[in-house]
Amino acid sequence: MHIKIDDTVTVTAGDDRGVTGRVLSVDRGARSIVVEGVRKVYKHVRRSQKNPQGGRLSKEMPIPLSNVQLVCSSCGKPTRTGARYQKDGSKERFCRKCSAGLGQLAPAKATYATS
Ligand SMILES: [Zn+2]
Repeated sequence: MHIKIDDTVTVTAGDDRGVTGRVLSVDRGARSIVVEGVRKVYKHVRRSQKNPQGGRLSKEMPIPLSNVQLVCSSCGKPTRTGARYQKDGSKERFCRKCSAGLGQLAPAKATYATS
């Protein structure tokens, strides 16, 4: 998985194509994510103890992971990501466009250290 919670992504396909938002949740099994402000639906809720008024509740639904691209925090463009080992043996995600590091994927491991 190259997308994590709190990443900024841009939608590349579907009704919300072109929209950029923050990732609210990631479902690894279903390979889908929920993005803030994307695929908003109204859920109609019946009157209940918790919701005495009932009415319409606006919420986001999951979209396929394949329909988004990560927005690089360094160059600001939607990009593919790669993974690489660093000198200390830790693994990091990086931007394929500007090759800036985009956060650690795995802690340092001596096996992969180069020096
Ligand atoms: Zn970049």
